[in-house]
Amino acid sequence: MNAAESGTSGRVTLVGGGPGAAGLLTIAAVQALFEAEVVLFDRLAPTDDLPALAPHALLIDVGKRPGNHAISQGDIEQLIVQHALAGSRVVRLKGGDPYIFGRGSEEVLACHMRGIPVTVISGVTSAISVPATAGIPLTHRGMSHAFTVISGHAPLTERELQGLVLLDSTIVVLMGVGTLPTLTQGLLRHGMTTDMPVAIIERGFSATQRTTIADLGTILGEAARASVASPAVLVIGEVVRLAFTGDTSAEHLISRAGEFAATV
Ligand code: SAH
Repeated sequence: MNAAESGTSGRVTLVGGGPGAAGLLTIAAVQALFEAEVVLFDRLAPTDDLPALAPHALLIDVGKRPGNHAISQGDIEQLIVQHALAGSRVVRLKGGDPYIFGRGSEEVLACHMRGIPVTVISGVTSAISVPATAGIPLTHRGMSHAFTVISGHAPLTERELQGLVLLDSTIVVLMGVGTLPTLTQGLLRHGMTTDMPVAIIERGFSATQRTTIADLGTILGEAARASVASPAVLVIGEVVRLAFTGDTSAEHLISRAGEFAATV
């Protein structure tokens, strides 16, 4: 049965919930949640305030933990479709932005295939906001004028590694804790220097947020020593040198400003 046959007015809104801080929800996201009758939410979506944000909604946890796929993607899509065909205003709340590695596009296709009206509300992606909350900009004049966001879910191909090294700009990795060894070895093999700075920011915007900074040659040892765990955003690039260390002494800031001005 599709939406026309069921004659219902159900619809679906994919909502990007941002990286976990209530302040980084968009106004459109707050409005969609308020109007929702059913909310299907993820592990990384901002869930603490959900009962207050979606006071009229049935809340369904479809969160998957790494290595433990509680509900399959197919079952999630079926749940979305079922509730919409039953006439509900369904919100699919996802962490960050729905179209960045969140399988949001597959859920949108599942709705299209059943003729269900679906819209997407973009969210603040962790790829940008988590480095920012650790004081790391992804671009900086004279230092990096591009950034590439990659998934570390599966190892990169040799061509991809080569491309990243040639691009010589900021690399942001999501889901990258497990494949950190193959990524660092691959980048080194393709000529990236061992002193390239690397930051790993775990649990951005939570009370236990932590940043580990090392370089390409030492990050594996540092990550193991600190027992770095998912969820984390990795940043590889010169911009990591800009991470604010808390040192506000005038000489320190002047020397940093001078260092970067010299490269402009
Ligand atoms: N659509 C999401 C990303 C989904 S992939 C977005 O746009 O942010 C899930 C990965 O996102 C995690 O493995 C981790 O790499 C990253 N991530 C999401 N939220 C995070 C947070 N609060 N702190 C650190 N990493 C986070």
